[in-house]
Order: sequence, then structure tokens, then C-alpha cells
Amino acid sequence: MPNRKLVAGNWKMNGLAASAAMLEELVAAHPTPACDILICPPATLIAALAGGAVPIGGQDCHWAVSGAHTGDISAEMLADAGATAVILGHSERRADHGETDVTVAKKTHAAWRAGLLAIVCVGETEAQRDANETLDVVGRQLGASVPDGATAANLAIAYEPVWAIGTGRTPSLEEIAQVHDFLRAELVKRFGKETGSGIRLLYGGSVKPGNAAEIFTVGNVDGALVGGASLTAKDFGGIIAAA
Ligand code: PEP
Repeated sequence: MPNRKLVAGNWKMNGLAASAAMLEELVAAHPTPACDILICPPATLIAALAGGAVPIGGQDCHWAVSGAHTGDISAEMLADAGATAVILGHSERRADHGETDVTVAKKTHAAWRAGLLAIVCVGETEAQRDANETLDVVGRQLGASVPDGATAANLAIAYEPVWAIGTGRTPSLEEIAQVHDFLRAELVKRFGKETGSGIRLLYGGSVKPGNAAEIFTVGNVDGALVGGASLTAKDFGGIIAAA
């Protein structure tokens, strides 16, 4: 049986208190979506937006419970503010903040410690794709960013080709299928058939209402991680409707 799809929105560094209206509009238009949904706003909005009909997640967490880490937020703090999930290892954090597979694994462990769903991102750069290294890169990231102890309930993987994020470009359906089939096989090899098949594999990178339906037809695509198109109820709702 296919996994129930998850459509997660990553607001990145966008959103002010008034953005609560977007969630109200979304819920009014899609009161009973056929997929799970999640919105990951900036940390400043988590407490204000959590507790409603739309589950709320963070965009990053530190691996420690608390301590001398100025500007950081722990997984426990996210949970305390009402978050149920956290995006980890997004390529923007890997690039802007020097995150490595090792730190992402520590953060994933912290997310589980706090009872959060970890959405771990993997994906190749354009140069790596051109050099035919895509499967090597995502396989290495998957293996090293995910610690032992994954379950279908505590982990989702987002395949996000770096060159497709925010560019309007997407891989072909065949290319998405190739990577998702590979990631599925890796998960089954490491965590066994039941767990490996149940961990959801999201595609991310320029998903829009106009291309979501065809992307969701690809085998082993269990949802989407959506950036720009998660900022309006109309666009995000269009993707939810396609799931
Ligand atoms: C993202 O940053 O996770 C993302 C997929 O962005 P976009 O949908 O804007 O390409």
C-alpha cells in the first residue's frame, strides 16, 4: 500500500505575525486534505501558529538540549513551542552554516529525543549531477545524516536537488524516479523492509500547483517539501489538492 503523502511547506526566512491569515485561508479551502500537511515557519512564529489544524515544524535545531549556543534553538524548545517536526540538513543550511552530514545526524538524533519528526534533506548540486555523481552524493548524505533508530514515524527524507531549489527548474520524472527508487532501496537495506518502505520520501525543488500532480504519480514519491509555493494558500492549497 502506498504511504500517505506528506506535503510540507518551508517558509524559510519569510513570515510575520500577519501570516497566520494564510493558515486560516488554507484550512478554510482544504478542511479535510487527503494528505498530511505541515508548515515550517520561522522560529519566531512557531508558538503563535502551533495548536491549530495545521501541524507546525521548525527549520533547524541544535543537537544539545540547552546551553551556551547563542542564537540556536534546541529540539526540546521546538517541541515546547508546539512543533511536531523539524527540517534538517536543508541545502541552504549546509551552504550558509557549514552543516555537515555529521552535524545533521546529531540534530536528527536530537529531534527524535524531543519526539519530533525529522525531515532530513539530501540532494546534489548541478556540478555533481553533470559529473554523474547524483546517486553517490545522495547515498552518502543519506547514510551519514541519518543515525540508527529511524522509524516510519520519526523520519522522512526530502530529495532536493540543489539546482532545482527556487529556480523553476525540476528534474524529469524519470530522474526523480531514479533517485527515489535508489533512496528507497538504501532505506530498505539499512532499516528492513517494513521500516524502509514506510519512511516517506518527499521530492523538493520548484514544486508548484502546475507540476505537483505529475510529480506525485512517480513511484516512491510520498509527498513534497515546498519552498516558495508554500507562502500563499492558493499555491500551497493547489499542491495539497494534487496529492
Ligand atoms: C526548499 O527550499 O525546500 C524548496 C523546495 O524551495 P522551492 O520550492 O522554492 O524550490
